[in-house]
Amino acid sequence: MNIPPNLPNARPESHLFYQTRQRRPLLAEARDVYMWNVEGKRYLDGSSGAMVSNIGHSHPHVLAAMRAQMEKSTFGYRLHFETDPSERLAAKTAALMPEGMEKVFFVSGGSEAVESALKLARQYALAIGQDSRWKVISRRPSYHGCTLGALAITGYAPLTDPFAPMMQAMPKIPAPRAYLDGLDPEDPATGAHYAAMLEAEIIAQGPETVLAFIVEPIGGASTGALVPPEGYMQAVRDICTRHGVLLIHDEVMCGGGRTGRFLGADHWGVVPDIIAISKGFGAGYAPLGAMVAQDRIVGPVLDGGGFLHGYTYAGNPLACAAGLAVLSVIEAEGLVGNAARIGALLKSRLEALMEPFPFIGDVRGKGLLLAFELVADRQTMAPLPAAMNAYVDLVELAYAEGLIIYSRRTRDGREGDHFLICPPMTATEAHVDEIIEKLTAALKAFAPQALR
Ligand code: PLP
Repeated sequence: MNIPPNLPNARPESHLFYQTRQRRPLLAEARDVYMWNVEGKRYLDGSSGAMVSNIGHSHPHVLAAMRAQMEKSTFGYRLHFETDPSERLAAKTAALMPEGMEKVFFVSGGSEAVESALKLARQYALAIGQDSRWKVISRRPSYHGCTLGALAITGYAPLTDPFAPMMQAMPKIPAPRAYLDGLDPEDPATGAHYAAMLEAEIIAQGPETVLAFIVEPIGGASTGALVPPEGYMQAVRDICTRHGVLLIHDEVMCGGGRTGRFLGADHWGVVPDIIAISKGFGAGYAPLGAMVAQDRIVGPVLDGGGFLHGYTYAGNPLACAAGLAVLSVIEAEGLVGNAARIGALLKSRLEALMEPFPFIGDVRGKGLLLAFELVADRQTMAPLPAAMNAYVDLVELAYAEGLIIYSRRTRDGREGDHFLICPPMTATEAHVDEIIEKLTAALKAFAPQALR
């Protein structure tokens, strides 16, 4: 590991700012599942950053592909040139999608992918003469991005409330959190129960006003890897079809292979009208995402005057070359299968932690999109007191152990601290051992506070 000599870890006040004043150590180097700070401390990237670095860091094949593309061109504006990497990535992406999802629109991140999906849906409605349809139903809790359009359909009050006057209010239905409602997620009646809430909302709003329903097939940060109950995804598809409502799958986090299938919705064979994908698609090598849609949606829009939307960096050849290389690594190394296999092992090891740590209330997820939730009481699923700040403290304790995990406290009247454990899809049995060992140490250090 080479520590660059000119990067001291103790730094003066920075000009850089993000969400808070928190400072983190400078990153020196990252390889596969490991990251080193400039003082040489090693971290196991147990959350792939923000569930992004799906193929691990600094993969030589991707670096070589990016270097080769850099020698040719790093930018070609779409009004002047098409590029070979974007053409090839679009074809490869379409081939990984369900039948009929043929048209690919590139963007630079998840929020852009979701914005693009909303605007394509609206323009499609206009193109087919359904001007009255504009409402997009989503779920609470949910996270679909930070731009004002994506935020309007996000169900997470701390992020949305300050901007409410600047956004169009959009209807929300509850996410199917069977584990909080004491329902059996394996029972098809549970899936039907939650899906019925969508139909009731469409009817209450007036079906002729409803444009789309957006859903994460497998939840990300907002719900902590929520897997829908049996039958839910299929029932939602049927309801949308019945009422002429477009179904948008937000696969920004669960797409790209991490759940053990390329798309989260592939677990149920459900085909939406529009898909948003990002994080694992660029896998941390380039800002990259895509909105993928059925030709029958895109066609009327293009024929009716064109899609009134686009980003300067969209389809950037360097980003697309990285995306192509990421997909070929996933294929060549069998990483989707590895995510399923190692994910099952990691999940069982997390479940085993429920015995020594009674404040773990739930372990959930699929493949390597896994999470656990901390509670004050496992029987009632009562949350830990907010003042305890569990979602911050446990992350810090793990970080001190050299393990990176990702957390969120839901705040929709049914608070809960959950922690995403999502290492790169290259993780091995030995990495699972290391994650559990470090997490156990962090949970032990956390326990005395939790039980106070
Ligand atoms: N949609 C989902 C499901 C996400 O998890 C995220 C980011 O966490 C986004 C959209 C927004 O993506 P980005 O942060 O790349 O804009």
